[in-house]
Amino acid sequence: MIFPKGNKLNSVLYFKCPRCHQGAFLAHPIYDLKHFVSVRPKCDKCGLKYRLEPSFYTGSMYVAYALGVGIMGLVALMMILFVHPFSFLLTFFTIVGVLVILSPFLNALSKIIWANFFFHFDPNFSPLENTP
Ligand SMILES: [Zn+2]
Repeated sequence: MIFPKGNKLNSVLYFKCPRCHQGAFLAHPIYDLKHFVSVRPKCDKCGLKYRLEPSFYTGSMYVAYALGVGIMGLVALMMILFVHPFSFLLTFFTIVGVLVILSPFLNALSKIIWANFFFHFDPNFSPLENTP
């Protein structure tokens, strides 16, 4: 692993539990569209409940929006630099296509980033803590 345990990027890029960096965060593979990006109720390694309150991941929309705008800007820049003659319509539909294809990934990424705002790495986690 490039990012050691304790680094938030370890949790974010590998979709691992924000507290122990071992347990899985998502219940299904990202592009399993039948179960669109569902987060597990709790970590199977340390027992951390992934939801602090009902509708906890609604706030991840703000993160998804920021990621979407960033990708939109990146695609627009690529189109301006590499497509000659520049076409506004082609750029628009390329951005829409890229965002549609990436939407499950961006949704999952925004949720794990959102979770990492609230939960922090704890190497001495107790498996019994935070369990009902
Ligand atoms: Zn955990």
